[in-house]
Amino acid sequence: MNDNQAPIVKDLVLVGGGHSHVAVLKRFGMKKLPGVRLTVIARDLDAAYSGMLPGLIAGHYGFDQTHIDLGPLARFAGARLYHDEVVGLDLAGKRLLCANRPPVRYELLSLNIGSAPNTADVPGAAEHAIPVKPIDRFVTHWEALARRVLARPDGSRIGVVGAGAGGVELLLAVRHRLAALLTEAGRTAARVDYHLVTETPAILPGFNARARAKFTRLLAARGVTVHLSERVTRVVAGALQCAGGLVLPLDEILWVTMAGAAPFLRETGLALDAHGFVLVDDTLQSVSHPDVFAAGDIAAVGAHPRPKSGVFAVRQGRPLAANLRRRLLGKPARRFRPQRKFLSLISTGDKSAIAARGDWALEGALVWRWKDWIDRRFIRKYTDLPAMTADDAARLPAGLADRQQRQELAAFAMRCGGCGAKVGSDVLSRALGALAPVVRDDVLIGLGALDDAAAVVVPPGKLMVHSVDYFRAFIDDPYIFGQIAANHSLGDLFAMGAEPQSALAIATLPYAIEDKLEDQLFQLMAGASAVLSAAGCALVGGHTGEGAELALGFAVNGLVDRDRLLRKAGMQPGDRLILTKPLGTGTLLAADMRHQAKGRWIDGALAAMLQSSGPAADCLIRHGAHACTDVTGFGLLGHLVEMIKPSGVAVELALGTLPLLDGALDCVARGIVSSLQPANLRLRRAIANLDVAAASPVYPLIFDPQTAGGLLASIPGERADACLAALRALGYQRAALIGTVSSQPDRPESVTLVL
Ligand SMILES: Cc1cc2nc3c(=O)[nH]c(=O)nc-3n(C[C@H](O)[C@H](O)[C@H](O)COP(=O)(O)OP(=O)(O)OC[C@H]3O[C@@H](n4cnc5c(N)ncnc54)[C@H](O)[C@@H]3O)c2cc1C
Repeated sequence: MNDNQAPIVKDLVLVGGGHSHVAVLKRFGMKKLPGVRLTVIARDLDAAYSGMLPGLIAGHYGFDQTHIDLGPLARFAGARLYHDEVVGLDLAGKRLLCANRPPVRYELLSLNIGSAPNTADVPGAAEHAIPVKPIDRFVTHWEALARRVLARPDGSRIGVVGAGAGGVELLLAVRHRLAALLTEAGRTAARVDYHLVTETPAILPGFNARARAKFTRLLAARGVTVHLSERVTRVVAGALQCAGGLVLPLDEILWVTMAGAAPFLRETGLALDAHGFVLVDDTLQSVSHPDVFAAGDIAAVGAHPRPKSGVFAVRQGRPLAANLRRRLLGKPARRFRPQRKFLSLISTGDKSAIAARGDWALEGALVWRWKDWIDRRFIRKYTDLPAMTADDAARLPAGLADRQQRQELAAFAMRCGGCGAKVGSDVLSRALGALAPVVRDDVLIGLGALDDAAAVVVPPGKLMVHSVDYFRAFIDDPYIFGQIAANHSLGDLFAMGAEPQSALAIATLPYAIEDKLEDQLFQLMAGASAVLSAAGCALVGGHTGEGAELALGFAVNGLVDRDRLLRKAGMQPGDRLILTKPLGTGTLLAADMRHQAKGRWIDGALAAMLQSSGPAADCLIRHGAHACTDVTGFGLLGHLVEMIKPSGVAVELALGTLPLLDGALDCVARGIVSSLQPANLRLRRAIANLDVAAASPVYPLIFDPQTAGGLLASIPGERADACLAALRALGYQRAALIGTVSSQPDRPESVTLVL
């Protein structure tokens, strides 16, 4: 959550979690800027650190050692983290177009989206070669490549196109790792031929002669065939064709050539260099659009051209953060001159490396240790984050807001509570006007009408089921939060076997100037509306007010045939218990608040919270469910107790079968639990064998409060396996049979935990 309580005046949006933006996030986290809302849009939640990637491929490091987790870093910075890909940029409207969400608005924008080897210019390269970037996709390709090499009985021929530092280092890392894997598999006799192909007359252009000579010797000693002055003109399945007539048969082709820029930039009108990179001046500000900054590979610094290298992206982080801050405060950006000479440390596959700077070069295991120390220190800087207290952000710094914004802000002090806290009707109608809720014949008066309330028809023979839920935002992404809040509310209807019909929204938006309120409301309701519409549920009205924190809830109404109504009572001895989604959202969100959850754990939890329980409810009903509920705030045990009491049965719950979200066990093992956990724990009195079960590491998770949790159903024993298979086929991959129902006259209405 953004702990910046000052009204929001400006949006700074960072696109890409590259080497420069991690520094910006850290610096904004260390010194918050009240009134500025920081958002980072990242395609990958784990930002790869280029210096350690060859070490990852060579097998010297694990994934987490070579990546910066943007989740905790963004939280530290008080930034909203949107896991998405920017696919377009509307400079006139100051909006970023994303692959999976409505446009995101900015006042100030910074691009640090890196580059990728250019496969577009050589026919066949995109189809038959593996580009080394995006790195995360390369890591997946690499694992498949290694499996293919291990499976080939007659050996393999591997070619790397591009003999810059990246190509040479990657080839040596691949060679080192494959040799180790073949030895492990007892295939020492398998032959692997390595080829390095470059259009330049020497390897490592831009490096000094000593470093080049050292690498030339090393490549020869390791049996790598180097093809100089060979320009690849076509790639076909299993071969490279070069301009000079060379045809090189290869089983695997890795593409590490000149970096190319994101194609969408060409459509934007931003000034670009001849290769499509964003032209910036020596303040890192676009030469055509001063409200756009760029750093790292994607930037072309006109005044000081430098090679595309992580070193420069890292160095630009500090001046970029300073200049973004200055621009937000209405001050001119400062010039930055990158160093001309820089230290390169290139690993040689084994735990050795070559250092080069100016015209000297040094080689050996000590150089590797030095590089390893520098690299690990870099990662630590962004993963070992200092604990911060909430900022006193009551006053806006001078220069942040213009005159009109200050006038608007002056009205804040006199803003009313009660009905006066409602968001103005213009803001509401503009934000909601862009939504297109589903239209249903049984909604007589809905969102579009000016009446005081909505009116809906209940068809004859149907029952109407009502429920309401409301909670504070737990992530800084209104679009995703809107989706989850709607999904959570609909869960009650699905658990009763009802078809969602209509919903009323209640939203609280953090204080902000009108423009920001409108955008926030639109993002929030666009997310909610997408989920409601997918469930066929009409948004028929609502109420929006301002408050300290973002919050959203829905009163939802559903229709159900009387004989299809599912209730908590009705469990029968012999039934088996099915849970449709994994547990753990409570502890994971608590860990996220403390900056201690990995980004990919939270991503997994969000994916689970976004999954609708609609298809699961139909499936459970088709398989004769006797009783059902959705697992939410009271945790699995709390909701289970609500089922067994009115059913008058006992339950045996198998802890080992409980489906758990990734990271949930780690978090509870570290004692991180939701603030609701102590209240939920009181229900342990329903457990018959507390002495035995409490020792299990899974035990705390039966009390973990869930957001948009799964359905818990009691299914006739003989149909349970078929029901589980059907749920998994519907996409509930983690659904599980977790217990059995019995009459247990000696322990009525109790839960026995089985380890
Ligand atoms: C094999 C290899 C080894 C290398 N070794 C070194 C080395 O040892 N030292 C060195 O200095 N350089 C090295 N480099 C070069 C280095 O990788 C790049 O120069 C560096 O990564 C550029 O950093 P960056 O911050 O500009 O972008 P990146 O580090 O590429 O980060 C960009 C980020 O933006 C995100 N992104 C991209 N597009 C979008 C989008 N449209 N929307 C949202 N997010 C997006 C990506 O997810 C990515 O995390 C190596 C390169 C290769 C290929």
